[in-house]
Order: sequence, then structure tokens, then C-alpha cells
Amino acid sequence: MAANELYEIYALRYAERVNRTRGENFKVTDDHDAPMPIDYFIWVVRNDARTIVVDTGFGLEEARKRERNLLQTPEQALASIGVELSTVEDVVITHLHYDHAGTMPDFSRARFHLQCSEMAFATGPAMLDEHERWAFSADHVCDMVRLLYDGRVVFHDEDADIAPGITLHRLPGHTDGLQAVRVPTRRGAVLLASDASHFYENFMRRSPFPICYSEADTLRSYDRLEELADSEDHIIPGHDPLVRALYAAPSSELQGWVCRLDEAPSRSVAAMGFRP
Ligand SMILES: [Zn+2]
Ligand SMILES: [Zn+2]
Repeated sequence: MAANELYEIYALRYAERVNRTRGENFKVTDDHDAPMPIDYFIWVVRNDARTIVVDTGFGLEEARKRERNLLQTPEQALASIGVELSTVEDVVITHLHYDHAGTMPDFSRARFHLQCSEMAFATGPAMLDEHERWAFSADHVCDMVRLLYDGRVVFHDEDADIAPGITLHRLPGHTDGLQAVRVPTRRGAVLLASDASHFYENFMRRSPFPICYSEADTLRSYDRLEELADSEDHIIPGHDPLVRALYAAPSSELQGWVCRLDEAPSRSVAAMGFRP
């Protein structure tokens, strides 16, 4: 593959929830009460030719409503690596949950890549169920509808190419239209799994996260994400604080805030005993 079709990938941490237990992260687990904090990320894929933002996080108002600890706004997180909102042309929304699809109107020029099935899911009968509806914000879903009426939504059905080498893959289960992003890098194909697997342990133990629209689809999507990435060290879970421990920051000031996912991890997750 030509060098200009390889990309850098950045994980930007913008929020956290420290007082959280394993029971909130796994449907079935051996020790439900043990602490297990969660990180919130957005991601940036870029090379000399293009910059693609993956997910838009949530802003202050949503953080207040849900009592989440917002460490920086997505706008500040992007600015820390030199990405200005008004210059972004392509945003991938992995799914429409509140922590992935807030702040979209701040991207004044961007088109938004979304699975058809995610729009149908977020605006259809599944939302009559309180448990399914909980992780969506009606305001964010309305933002997406407004973007649609502005002609700024690019709909995808299953797998899609969005830029040289970059592909989207529908991996349903957590929501109906969740999509992962596969990116060619110097170390091979890296898969931004987003909430197809919140933690390494979800897919490695085949133990779904409790927000699970379809358990059968979730388990099939674990198989699919392993097929799509070059190894388990090329799969990036959506919320795992371990990502910060494994991947280096681009500079000492950004330690704990930003990691480079196109560079090899300091250790392999294969050796961590997550596989049963
Ligand atoms: Zn989610
Ligand atoms: Zn999430």
C-alpha cells in the first residue's frame, strides 16, 4: 500500500466515570461489585491528504444531565492535536448514543457518515423501550435529522469505503446500526471497534456489555471484528482505560489525554489472561 494511503490514528480521552463497577460493564460476570472505571474517547484518523473524526462525544449540558465527569470538551480535545472543528469535512458516527453523537452541530462543514439501520433504530419503535432509549439523547437524534435535511448525512448499508483504504463495517448488537472503522496503518489494519466492544474483556471473554439490543448479533460481531483486524492488538475497544496504558502519548504534555494507535502497543493483550 502506498505511504499516502496509510494513516495516523489518535484516541482522545474527553471524559471518565470512576465510580463504576464490573456489573455495569458485563451482563454476566464473576464479581459484579468490583470497581471498573470507564473512559470516553473520540478518535481522529489522518494523513497528509485528509482528516476524519470518528464520533463527536458529548458536551457540557449532556455531562451535567447525566452526571458524567467531562474532563475537556470534544472541541478542546481536537484542538490539542491541532484539529479545528470548522475545517473537518468527514465525521463518522459509530452509533447515535449520547456519548458518541453530541456536539455534531459544532462541525459546521462536515458530512456525517451513518448506517441506515442506526437512523431507523434511533427513530423507530425500538425507542419505545425505556432500556433501549436510555443511552440516546432525543436532542442528538434531532440534530442528525436536521443534518439530514441539510443534505449532510451520508448513509451506508453494511460495509462501505469512505476514503482510500478506510472502510466502515456494520457490527450490530449493542445498537442495530453500530459501525466500526478499519484503518490501514504502518503496523497493519487497525479496527476502531467503538462500542462493538467497550472493553477488551467484552470480546475476548465473549461477555457482552449490559446495553445489548441483540445478544446473538453482539456475539457474531465479536467474531467479525476479529476477522477485520490484523490481530487482537489491532482492535481498539470503545471505552477501555487500558488503551491509555498500552499506547503512548504523542508528547509528554498529552500523557493520559491522547494516544497514538498506529504505533505498536507496549504489551500484547494476548498475555493478559482475558481469554477463558
Ligand atoms: Zn454505545
Ligand atoms: Zn459509548
